[in-house]
Amino acid sequence: MNEFELIDFIRGQQTVKRDDVLVGIGDDAAVLMPPQGQALIVSADTLLAGVHFYHHDPAAGIAYKAMAVNLSDMAAMGGKPAWATLVLTMPEIEDKFVASFAQGLFGIAEQFQVEIVGGDTCRGPLSITIQMHGFVEPEKALRRNTAQVGDDIYVSGTLGDAALALAIAEGQPSELSGQAQSWLKDRLLKPTPRVSLGMALGGVAHAAIDISDGVVGDLKHMLNQSGVGANVWLEAVPLSPMLEQLPQQHAIELAMTGGEDYELCFTAAPSQRGRVQAIAHSLNLPLTRIGEIVDRSGLYCSLKGQAVELSGGGYQHFE
Ligand code: ADP
Ligand code: MG
Repeated sequence: MNEFELIDFIRGQQTVKRDDVLVGIGDDAAVLMPPQGQALIVSADTLLAGVHFYHHDPAAGIAYKAMAVNLSDMAAMGGKPAWATLVLTMPEIEDKFVASFAQGLFGIAEQFQVEIVGGDTCRGPLSITIQMHGFVEPEKALRRNTAQVGDDIYVSGTLGDAALALAIAEGQPSELSGQAQSWLKDRLLKPTPRVSLGMALGGVAHAAIDISDGVVGDLKHMLNQSGVGANVWLEAVPLSPMLEQLPQQHAIELAMTGGEDYELCFTAAPSQRGRVQAIAHSLNLPLTRIGEIVDRSGLYCSLKGQAVELSGGGYQHFE
């Protein structure tokens, strides 16, 4: 396959055809029709071989994750995903890799009705960049800098599963069953972007962020940008049965500082507790209150009333 055959192949594999795409893959640029009165949300994320995935990971999984991390950013803004561009850099075009890649990419693209409207193809070390576009009612965009003193702090799902999967993949011995390990591996390689949750939180939550680098690091971004602090009760942090089996301190470290969960962390006024639990019920997704926003700066974690210092501050590329 050469570059042009690759682009034709990608175009041919795509099943989503949106009405708001006037010109998609094939011209010099895409021509798109944003819905009237909605704000456009744009994000981009790169996955690099050796940094974000292993060279031997299946291509379908890499493609899935490249879409999922961008969809998670949309979710954290309360946006409805619509269009994406795909920049593919590969040392060579391998038919098998490309077929598997397209399968993973378009599986999740179809699930969220995202159309790939263009991109670029280069030769070089394997990397995938996806730029995602979505819509939100302007007043319902969920920002990081709008947490308010007195807010409850929530997280979706369970935390630390991806970090435990990564530790096991890197050789940490585990007594978990094969089934439990494969569930954990899916949490790492096939995270579920919380798009429906983000959309439901518009007008309910005050602030939101997705947990890509560990809730400690990500929550600190929200606190700093909002000019507030937080108390977090570690005994309240939601853990899967796999993490429950670990020594408590290890489980809490993974849950609080491990990255790649792609759950949402958000704040809402206590008056919204009923609405938050109604959303949890309708989405069949636990939304757990883990703390509160306070007016002194800093993040204070406690376990049953005892102050606890957590070591990891979240993943950083240039440390
Ligand atoms: P140009 O030289 O104008 O940038 P390209 O040959 O790079 O043109 O791209 C031709 C068309 O194919 C464009 O519409 C571009 O958006 C699309 N395209 C290129 N690479 C990809 C890709 N990896 N995935 C999706 N679309 C792509
Ligand atoms: Mg190009």
